Amino acid sequence: MTDPVYLDYAATTPTDPRVAHQMGACLTVHGNFGNPASRSHAFGWQAEEAVELARAQMAKALHADVREIIWTSGATESDNLALKGPALAPGQTKRHIVTTAIEHKAVLDTCAYLETQGFEVTYLDPDKHGRVEASSVAEVLREDTLIVSVMHVNNELGTINDVAAIGQVCRDKNVLFHVDAAQSFGKLEINVATMCIDMLSISAHKIYGPKGIGCLYVRREPPIKMTPLIHGGGHEMGLRSGTLATHQIVGLGAAAELMIAHMHEEQVRLSALRQRFLRHIHQIPGFVENSHPEHNLHAIVNLGFSGVDGETLLLALDDLAISSGSACTSASVEPSYVLRAIGVPEDLAHASLRFSFGRFTTEEEVDRAGRRVAEVVGRLRTP
Ligand SMILES: *Cc1c(COP(=O)(O)O)cnc(C)c1O
Repeated sequence: MTDPVYLDYAATTPTDPRVAHQMGACLTVHGNFGNPASRSHAFGWQAEEAVELARAQMAKALHADVREIIWTSGATESDNLALKGPALAPGQTKRHIVTTAIEHKAVLDTCAYLETQGFEVTYLDPDKHGRVEASSVAEVLREDTLIVSVMHVNNELGTINDVAAIGQVCRDKNVLFHVDAAQSFGKLEINVATMCIDMLSISAHKIYGPKGIGCLYVRREPPIKMTPLIHGGGHEMGLRSGTLATHQIVGLGAAAELMIAHMHEEQVRLSALRQRFLRHIHQIPGFVENSHPEHNLHAIVNLGFSGVDGETLLLALDDLAISSGSACTSASVEPSYVLRAIGVPEDLAHASLRFSFGRFTTEEEVDRAGRRVAEVVGRLRTP
């Protein structure tokens, strides 16, 4: 049997060989293995130089300053720091947080934790394709609203939020604005200054970098009062202690630079692949596009197939590596909370599939996948 077609780039991506090569050069005795915090010898200076080069790569990609990049273990930690950092800062008195019902669990579970610590959280409902309007954010802001957290692109749907408009609303009201950009960074233009973003989460393994590394952009002026989650040697301006993982950081920087350098051509190439895939799907009657018809990432499409059993569908498509409408909470068989929140009925949510395309996806793979889905859905519908 041939390998399954990998169409789950929104779950994770393979590390680009060019990135892996640079990472490998930071590990062994003949490589750049020093502790970036060692100030007294060349091994340390050289490692620090590599870390600072990566920081410059991240800052450039976001139109930010190098002093605004904090290394973390990934977007989950970045989301935690962005919310708990300001919320639990000493002397902080505001008690209200605004987010959306379809954020990643890293944001939702952090908000749930903050609720146990005396915070009140408003969960905004998106429209039926997963979009949250700036006007709905404006309506719920209060005197004591500390922070608004809205994702740029939803990981299950691919729906794109107008973060610039939401950012403007927050800036006008002097409320902090955090954006989870794990799915959008390197794929869509991001300018933290013009978009009025105060904090922004990034993960390397969604952009052909390694797992276990990410960063949080934190606006510097005026400063945001934050408490660290991890105490120790005072690394990262005291916000995130721990010896810097040179190879991981170099990997993130290199991965980001590649994403930015090829962003526009990849947008065009992946849009064409997505269209090509959908042409196969259009042969099937009775499918629903859960993704936004207009404001959607070129690399993700979420489709529901009415009249078929979700579990049977996924089992029959065992030669495709894709996510189902229940994949993100794999411990339970609950339908996806994202699909439920945009009003997809339970049975259709179970019979929904997310296809996500990426750097190594070919036309041949897309054709194979599209034909398979059409064939299997057709077969399951005929009793
Ligand atoms: C993948 C993802 C995360 C988690 O990132 P990790 O680096 O795996 O912790 C958070 N938010 C979104 C939107 C994601 O897609």
